[in-house]
Amino acid sequence: MTPPLPQTPAWDLDGPYGPERWFGQPGQYEQVILAGELVSLDPADGELHLLRARAANCAHPGPWPFAFRFCPKCGTALQPPAGARGAETWSSPGNAASGQPAPASTGTPDPLQRTELPMPGPSRLDFVVAGTPPHLLAFDQTTGRLHAWREGPSGVFEGGRWRELATLPASVNLPRWSWAAAAFGAGFALPGDGGPLWVSLSAKSAVPIAAKPALGVRRSLGGAAALEGRALVPVLADDALSLAFWTSSEGGWRRAPVANGDAAAASQVFSAPSVNAREAFWVGEHGQLFARAGGEGIACEYRPWRDGWRPMRGVRPVLSPNGVFHQLGRLDGRQAFEALLPPGATPQRREFDRYVTSCGSAAFSRMTRFREPWEPKRIEYRGEGDAFLVPLLAFDADRFLVASCSPRNALLGFIDADGASGAAVECRIMFAGASVALTDLRATIRTGSAWEIVPVVHGGSLLVYDLRGNRCHRWPLAAAGPRDA
Ligand SMILES: [Zn+2]
Repeated sequence: MTPPLPQTPAWDLDGPYGPERWFGQPGQYEQVILAGELVSLDPADGELHLLRARAANCAHPGPWPFAFRFCPKCGTALQPPAGARGAETWSSPGNAASGQPAPASTGTPDPLQRTELPMPGPSRLDFVVAGTPPHLLAFDQTTGRLHAWREGPSGVFEGGRWRELATLPASVNLPRWSWAAAAFGAGFALPGDGGPLWVSLSAKSAVPIAAKPALGVRRSLGGAAALEGRALVPVLADDALSLAFWTSSEGGWRRAPVANGDAAAASQVFSAPSVNAREAFWVGEHGQLFARAGGEGIACEYRPWRDGWRPMRGVRPVLSPNGVFHQLGRLDGRQAFEALLPPGATPQRREFDRYVTSCGSAAFSRMTRFREPWEPKRIEYRGEGDAFLVPLLAFDADRFLVASCSPRNALLGFIDADGASGAAVECRIMFAGASVALTDLRATIRTGSAWEIVPVVHGGSLLVYDLRGNRCHRWPLAAAGPRDA
């Protein structure tokens, strides 16, 4: 679907999201092609934001390509565009991104700048940042409606609005602690009820591609993982546990057999995946699913848990500095961490006497933050008597978005998959840094489950979605300076 090429000179330039081809004369550009799509330079078409084009204060307003630092006509320095490269680096479909890189933003949310994003209607949403350039997408798990955020004329969120991009042929009945989308390249994968979908994105439309019935896939059993240029989704296929995977549109959906993936292994729902540099792990009630991708092949294996240990599937694993995930669970009425390891590795287990929640690179218990719960180094935050902290997002090694929740006796139902008592917990959204004082970001969410608070970083802003209230809080992430290097 290559657009017709204009009969004018062309300049190939590096854009913030990949190669751009500008047609016309500098100062009188006519068209641009980005990611194979024609982008209009007419401000009335409202597509300029896709290029993060630069503007000038001189007599030559542009738009100028992102790659230009100075006006080519008079030498005036050009202004960096709003929300430039590096602003869209992370998405949290169902809080599942444990172990994923933190947003590279240097910004910190300012409580005084909190606003609310309009919502696309009454819905139960999950969010994905995907495509080239990255779009903010909201997916309604009940109706299958996919909405894209259309940026405003003067910024990503100033005057923007939602528009419906597509209705996907999938609803998702997986529990929220299980659901996750996997974004890479020009689209994203999600686990639909009838099997996984790949959603191919462009600025103007979304094309869903479902796994063919010939693959024998009957339903998704857990969230999608992105690993080494592939999307992986555990599925029930031919009465066994299998892994559906997507590499490219040419290959479509394919299936990898799972060692030991018998009917019993396929009779459970898995938690959203945890992914480190080379491997993906899914935690089920009765066992773990492991996958490693390399070259052309995918190695995957299912192993039952040992000795009656049972995971708390709603609690994200803790990622150790050496890259090993540790899943909290119960053994003989006490808490114990089980290491998630490739097949053949020596099993490791650690008992621990308190409940711990995690966002991957940090763990929290009551008001305490640790790198690993069994390490002596920790920070004790100041807080009110019966509050407990639940981490929502790691900005970097020392800065976290947390929910300060009370009462403390609601903790178990709030964090675990089976708890979900529905009892309302009051959650104040806070910023936790290196000092013991928390910064109140002035948003309070009442909900019964940590899985109904969804953080997303996009376009230089932090968003926190309150699923029960169907509200979306937004804070600009104040940058230390232009980030267009
Ligand atoms: Zn100029």
